[in-house]
Amino acid sequence: MRTARGYAAHTPGAPLAPFALPRREPGPHDVDIAIDFCGVCHSDLHQVRNEWDLEGIFPMVPGHEIVGRVAATGAAVRAFAVGDRVGVGVFIDSCRACPDCRAGLEQYCAAGMVPTYNGRDRDGAPTYGGYSERIVVDERYVLRVPTGIEPAAAAPLLCAGITTWSPLRHWQAGPGKTVGVLGLGGLGHMGVKFAHALGAHVVAFTTSPAKADDARRWGAAEVVVGAGGAAWEARAGSLDFLLDAVSAAHDVSAGIELLRRDGTLVLVGLPAQALAVRPFALVDRRRRLAGSAIGGIPETQEMLDFCAAHGIAADVQAIPIQQVNEAYERLLRGQARYRFVIDLASLRA
Ligand code: NAP
Ligand code: ZN
Ligand code: ZN
Repeated sequence: MRTARGYAAHTPGAPLAPFALPRREPGPHDVDIAIDFCGVCHSDLHQVRNEWDLEGIFPMVPGHEIVGRVAATGAAVRAFAVGDRVGVGVFIDSCRACPDCRAGLEQYCAAGMVPTYNGRDRDGAPTYGGYSERIVVDERYVLRVPTGIEPAAAAPLLCAGITTWSPLRHWQAGPGKTVGVLGLGGLGHMGVKFAHALGAHVVAFTTSPAKADDARRWGAAEVVVGAGGAAWEARAGSLDFLLDAVSAAHDVSAGIELLRRDGTLVLVGLPAQALAVRPFALVDRRRRLAGSAIGGIPETQEMLDFCAAHGIAADVQAIPIQQVNEAYERLLRGQARYRFVIDLASLRA
């Protein structure tokens, strides 16, 4: 066991503070990664504040949008070499044997995937995330980050990117489809970029008028400002698909009513509160309400390669780790443009 420097919430809701965390010695299949950047996902906030139906494990070192360089490899590692630019997302292990794992959809592992943080590794030890200087991960769960993508802007792809890419691909967003994206935060802004790059007609829905120009720049053909009301009613029945990436309680039925016949609203946002569905909104036009969690390892690699080929990355603001608590407050106030990314050089300084 070695120790690494990091930042942790020591109790639920506590501000993050320096913490020395244990990292295992790399085993034969492990990759030892020196972390350069880690995105600040709204899920970090939910978990640090214990907002979900999930008993948090404290001290908690958040962070699951990790980009770094390979510092060392175990003797059996073949896919990676020292110096490679790599990424780690929301999970670092799974059973590898169930139908979901064999299908490359490890996020739905029947035995439960091992989360990058706020989880327990196979040996029962708590997992600690990317707000730290290094991490040791089995090579099967390590992603290759193409050199064409700037590392800080690549970090959010490991969660915000794959979480929007996976449902857009699964529900076949593309030419001839009208795709809505609701909530232009870390996830939503990637959703607009991907849906546009895949060839869909994109309609962005935001409560923030100041985000409209950015949404058009990412490829939205239309931007609807507000939450419900006349502008929404005018678009009732117009979307094939709506990606709902809102982090707080909201009227999901109003979103469902934007769908045309057989349209699908996919919830990727995870507000702490239950969302009420008006039965008529769903029953009318044979609409569907679905959900989607991050994405598997093969599709995450596919997404990263697509980003390199299409010049896509996240819009980020780099911060030193000493400003992470302030970044949380700004994220809660909707002031992120569009992802805070921690520069881990600040931890080593
Ligand atoms: P974020 O950057 O904070 O973005 C959330 C956006 O939701 C805001 O930018 C805002 O967009 C909108 N919003 C916030 N409060 C609202 C309200 N009261 N009413 C209407 N709109 C509101 O968060 P994120 O990191 O993108 O994460 C979004 C959600 O997805 C979180 O709940 C997170 O936990 C979840 N998540 C899920 C998965 C998954 O696998 N399914 C993966 C990662 C994250 P506008 O300013 O444009 O209105
Ligand atoms: Zn996340
Ligand atoms: Zn499995």
